[in-house]
Amino acid sequence: MISAVLPTYNRAPIAFTHGEGSWLTAEDGTRYLDLGGGIAVNVLGHAHPALVAVLTEQAGKLWHVSNVYRIPEQERLAELLVDKTFADTVFFTNSGTETAELAIKMARKYHSDKGTPRAEILAFEGAFHGRSTGAIAAAGSDKMTKGFGPLMPGFRQLPFGDLDALTAAISDQTCAVIVEPIQGEGGIRSLSDAFLRKLRDLCDQHGALLIFDEVQCGVGRTGKLFAHEWAGVAPDIMMVAKGIGGGFPLGAVLATENAASGMVAGTHGSTYGGNPLGCAVGAKVMQIVADDAFLADVSRKGAQFAQGLEGLVAAHPTVFEAVRGQGLMLGLKCKATNTDVVKAAYGQHLLTVAAADNVIRLLPALNIPEADIAEALARLDATARALEG
Ligand SMILES: *Cc1c(COP(=O)(O)O)cnc(C)c1O
Repeated sequence: MISAVLPTYNRAPIAFTHGEGSWLTAEDGTRYLDLGGGIAVNVLGHAHPALVAVLTEQAGKLWHVSNVYRIPEQERLAELLVDKTFADTVFFTNSGTETAELAIKMARKYHSDKGTPRAEILAFEGAFHGRSTGAIAAAGSDKMTKGFGPLMPGFRQLPFGDLDALTAAISDQTCAVIVEPIQGEGGIRSLSDAFLRKLRDLCDQHGALLIFDEVQCGVGRTGKLFAHEWAGVAPDIMMVAKGIGGGFPLGAVLATENAASGMVAGTHGSTYGGNPLGCAVGAKVMQIVADDAFLADVSRKGAQFAQGLEGLVAAHPTVFEAVRGQGLMLGLKCKATNTDVVKAAYGQHLLTVAAADNVIRLLPALNIPEADIAEALARLDATARALEG
């Protein structure tokens, strides 16, 4: 018999009752060290006092009003984001998938309003942009699209990081290019700064809009507020979600005034997007994360963690193969099967997340204490030993 919850997830048989910082407590009282962070969501760990305070304070005042009214909490968060990024304007959503939908609509509308509609959006193999019909069409993989056709037309996938393929494919008919600066679900695969700069040049040359999907790599995860800052190039449109709400469902599409020029009144909307609860929390997350000292600390801790992981790769060559990623968006390419490693880590009361390309992801809270990183390394070492038998 089918379970009451639609069985679209392969769930581990663990349920948590509460969390604090980088730790989660299961129903049986066992404490787990959380390197999954709800998949790069809990940027400030669990039950961060400042987030709990701002959420409960807002909950006592106002939860929801329609977007047919001004929402001051939304305006405040939009101003914070505009202030700290390339963007001139922001639309709020409740998830990453919804940001993909608007990014696609915005790019198409831009060219349509110029009187020269452009059909094709270029994407990359291994990408993940969400689970809507549009987002799965953009990613294009069999795994995500099989059985769900006919797919939304207009997408073409290029080999990941292949500059020659990109140069050959892009033209004056290209509507936009959509890409994650660092693929998350794809296995913590980074595009080089040089590739991102060349991509920006090619888009400019052909009048195509550049969309960065920073749903997973954004909001401080790499040690910059947004990952593309490392390459020194800005997109026209950026998708943000996951970390921005610190655990509260919140997403945002950021855009330049030019890229957003088609999105006039009546062209898009959301009942819940930009509600006072989500935006109050998002503003607090921004206040804490968009800070040079905080971000420098993410880089420092990320480098320390990565160095420890390199040691584990050297010590356990039959289990681990290589370290990937930047800041606290780290991956361990495995020699053993990644899902076996994730399972073995549960045995050490350590939470990691599998990704494509036989990688396990380590996406801890950005404020994880150094002692917890040391503990994580010790538990990964024990995980490898257990697998070596
Ligand atoms: C998680 C993710 C999404 C989808 O976000 P949801 O909130 O699950 O809809 C889109 N793009 C990237 C890069 C992601 O990691």
